[in-house]
Amino acid sequence: MSPNIWNWRAIAGGAGALYVHVPFCVRKCAYCDFASWGMDSNDGRMRVYARALSRQAEELASAGLLEGCMTAYVGGGTPSMLGPEVLSGLLHTLRTVAPNMRELSCEANPDTLSDEVLVAMREAGTTRVSIGVQSLEDAELVELGRLHDAKTAAERVSAAVATGMDVSVDLMCATPQQSKETWGRTLLAACELGVGHVSVYPLQLEQGTPLGDRYAHDDPCWNEEEVQANRMEMAQSVLSAAGFARYEVASYARADKQCLHNTAYWTGIPYVGVGYGAASMLDRATYVQLRSVAPQLPALEGWVQRVRLSVERPWDRIACDHRLCSECFSVELLNAQESLAEDLMLGMRLSRGIGGALVAQAKEAFGNRFVRTIERLVADGLVSCENGSLVPTQLGWLLGNQIFGPLWSLSDNL
Ligand code: SF4
Repeated sequence: MSPNIWNWRAIAGGAGALYVHVPFCVRKCAYCDFASWGMDSNDGRMRVYARALSRQAEELASAGLLEGCMTAYVGGGTPSMLGPEVLSGLLHTLRTVAPNMRELSCEANPDTLSDEVLVAMREAGTTRVSIGVQSLEDAELVELGRLHDAKTAAERVSAAVATGMDVSVDLMCATPQQSKETWGRTLLAACELGVGHVSVYPLQLEQGTPLGDRYAHDDPCWNEEEVQANRMEMAQSVLSAAGFARYEVASYARADKQCLHNTAYWTGIPYVGVGYGAASMLDRATYVQLRSVAPQLPALEGWVQRVRLSVERPWDRIACDHRLCSECFSVELLNAQESLAEDLMLGMRLSRGIGGALVAQAKEAFGNRFVRTIERLVADGLVSCENGSLVPTQLGWLLGNQIFGPLWSLSDNL
C-alpha cells in the first residue's frame, strides 16, 4: 500500500477521493438491499442521470474540492450497464475534473461487461475494474439470483485482465448451495483468472429481500456464524497460498494491487460522493468547500470536526437534471472524540492496524479509558501490540464487532 499518494492531497487540499454512484441494475439480485433498482437497459433516464453526475463532478471541481483528489470510484448498482458511450462520457469527465487522479475504478457485472464497455473504460483512463462475480458455481449463482453463469463470469474476467487494467473480483461465501468444496473451487478458479485483487464477503440475509424473507423464520445452517468464519478462514488460506496478502478484513491483493480508493475510507481521508444515496465524509475545510456549491447545507458550529453526508434524492426524481444546490442531504455531525473513535475503528479493519501516531493521539484524548480498553481487547485475544501499533488478531478479524463496539464507546461523553 502506498500511503504517500495522499501527500499531494495534503498539499492541494480538498477531498482525497471521489465516489460516484450508479443505482441501476438489470435486475435485483435475491439478496440485495443496496441502493439500486432494476432498469431496462434502453431506459433514457440513465443518460440524464449520468449527465447530472458529470455536472455535479464539475461543480465539485469548481469549488476546489477535487484539487487533491487521488482516486475516483464509479460504483453501483451496475455502472457497466450504462453502455460504452454514456459510461465513457462520465469517466472522461472524472479524468478531466480531477487531473491528479492516480486510480480510477469502475464496477461491472459480467453480463453487461461487453468488449465495447471494456474498451470504453480503458480509453477513458480507467485503471481498475471491480467485477461482481460472487461465485464460479452455477447452482450458487442461481440461488443468489445473479444473471450470469460461471462460464460467462470467467470469460468476462479474463477479457478484463487482457486489457491490462487492474482487475478485482468480489466473491461471496456462506450462501445457499455452497459447500467447503465448491467454495474452495471458486477461490482457486478466481486466482487462476489472473486477477490482482479479491474481495470476500459472507452473505448477509437482509429483511425485505427475497432471500432474507424466504429464510426469515428459519435458521439456515449454510449462513451460520461458524460457517461464515470457516469460509473466511478458508479464503485466507487459499488466497495467501496463491500469493495474495490480506490488507483489510475483506480484501486481498497481490503486490501493489491494493485498492487505493478504499484505503481512503479506512484511513480518515476526506471523500466526497455524488449520486443517489452516495456518502461523503468531510472535514471542516472540505465541508465549507462543498457548502459553497450546496448552500442548503447547514453552517457548522465550532465543536464539529467531521461531517458525514449522504444524498437523499427521491427515486421519482432520479432523472432530474440535478445541481448540487438542489440535492437533499442527510447530515451527521461528529465531534473530535467521535472522529477519533471512528478512525480507531476503521484502522482495526486493516492488517497494519492502528499506527503509533494514532495510538498516541488516542492516549492523549481518552487517557486511561483507552489504555484499559486496549488491555481488555488484548486479554480477550482480539488485538495484539506490534512495534507500537495495535493490530487485529485472527480472532479479531472474525469478531470485528467485539473490537469496534468498545472503541466507539470511547467517544461517549467523558
Ligand atoms: S448487481 Fe449488485 S447492486 Fe445490483 S442488484 Fe445485484 S447485488 Fe445489488
